[in-house]
Amino acid sequence: MDARGAVIVGAGECGARAAFALREEGYAGPTTLIGEETHLPYERPPLSKEGMASDASGLKLIADAAHFADAGIRLLLGSKVIAIDRAAKTVSFRSGSTIPYEMMLLATGARPRRLPLAEASGHCLYLRTQDEANAIASRFRQGAHVVIVGGGFIGLELAAAASRHGCTVSLLEAAPRLLARAVPPEIAEVIGNVHRSNGVDIRLGVSIAGFQDMDRGVEVHLAEGAPLRADFCIIGIGAVPNTELAQEAGLAVDNGIRVDGTLRTDDPYIFAAGDCCSFPLSIYGGRRVRLETWRNAQEQGTLAAKNMAGGNIEHAAVPWFWSDQYDRTLQIAGLPDEGTQTVRRDLADGAFLLFHLAGDGRLVAASGIGIGNAIARDIRLAEMLVARRAVPAAGSLASAAVKLKTLLAA
Ligand code: FAD
Ligand code: NAP
Repeated sequence: MDARGAVIVGAGECGARAAFALREEGYAGPTTLIGEETHLPYERPPLSKEGMASDASGLKLIADAAHFADAGIRLLLGSKVIAIDRAAKTVSFRSGSTIPYEMMLLATGARPRRLPLAEASGHCLYLRTQDEANAIASRFRQGAHVVIVGGGFIGLELAAAASRHGCTVSLLEAAPRLLARAVPPEIAEVIGNVHRSNGVDIRLGVSIAGFQDMDRGVEVHLAEGAPLRADFCIIGIGAVPNTELAQEAGLAVDNGIRVDGTLRTDDPYIFAAGDCCSFPLSIYGGRRVRLETWRNAQEQGTLAAKNMAGGNIEHAAVPWFWSDQYDRTLQIAGLPDEGTQTVRRDLADGAFLLFHLAGDGRLVAASGIGIGNAIARDIRLAEMLVARRAVPAAGSLASAAVKLKTLLAA
């Protein structure tokens, strides 16, 4: 054991899970978890859901201070690492102080992509952190008019939350459809219709010309048509990985900090995991991806810790995520864009599943939407079929009478 110990930069989902996993793997060296935010590590998914907390007391912590202390994890919160000295194996802070490391994990996550046109406005808000969620929630009130820019997950989940709080919501999306990047069109259409039936004014193919702050609120100017008046705007146009620290230290960056299948960077003493890294996905022949999902952050934090503790295990998980909007939950296992053919299975109460097949008939992804947890079990089984590289008959996938469990057994 090296007295310099393990340093984890970024105290989000991935970093916090990695710190505990190091201990579970029997790593006994000093372990320091460094986070720029002042809160104890917390879960981000609740921040955009309907019950979003309106103050920090509603934080859903990943673990409380006593758990970190019991595990012998030193927490440095409100501390931003500003540089890595790879030769000296230290990280440094603005104060000039440094911490040595034997091994390091970069779990720096991502931040909201900024909309340059909105930079001068005092009424345009972004969401990544608890503090930003508080700022948004404090503006939700009956009758307030909110303009949301971006028809991705942040935009849609917050549209649901805002309308539930009695706000009037307009959602502007530049693309011709919602959720264009990650979600099949059939599911995006259902989501759009649920929003419309809850009174959200969804406008697709809209270009924004600018924002003008007024005495109260803001005017959103569109490339075509009348401006929209709003009490405030929320911008949700994607996330960019926090890679600057790695890049300045000379590590390779390729849509995220570039790591191999074991989550090592090109420096054998530095790992990267979670939203900040791009990695080869073995189930798709090593296709390099960067995932921005909660489960991936957990899984990669755990895997990085195993490898920091002496392992050499390749990442082999099937991507998976969910989104909750109103009473609907959508889930996707695998990457649907790997498929060339889609088979649909209709379930009770309007729920359905889509199975995405490659040209050779292999199941490469499954997606679905339904009320509550209507599709959860089937997506879990489909994920197992994807992991096994199964080639199920299209007719069996289409028929709700054929249980997915029987396909797994086959
Ligand atoms: P982060 O959670 O971003 O944590 C990184 C941390 O590192 C941050 O606290 C940051 O301040 C810190 N940091 C960065 N640089 C430094 C530095 N130099 N020094 C010190 N600290 C630093 N996923 C789903 O699958 N389903 C959902 O329903 C879902 N909902 C979401 C809702 C919201 C509002 C958001 C923002 C995300 C949601 N996600 C969801 C995505 C999921 O939360 C992320 O994929 C996950 O949080 C990524 O974890 P991470 O640890 O890699 O990064
Ligand atoms: P997102 O899901 O990637 O969606 C961004 C949306 O904004 C897309 O529709 C995108 O369209 C559009 N867009 C991009 N650039 C634009 C521009 N310049 N002007 C107008 N529209 C633009 O990202 P997000 O919703 O902002 O979410 C941010 C992060 O939070 C992501 O990491 C996301 O995974 C995470 N999150 C996840 C969940 C979940 O999984 N349930 C929930 C909330 C947040 P194009 O695709 O056409 O570019």
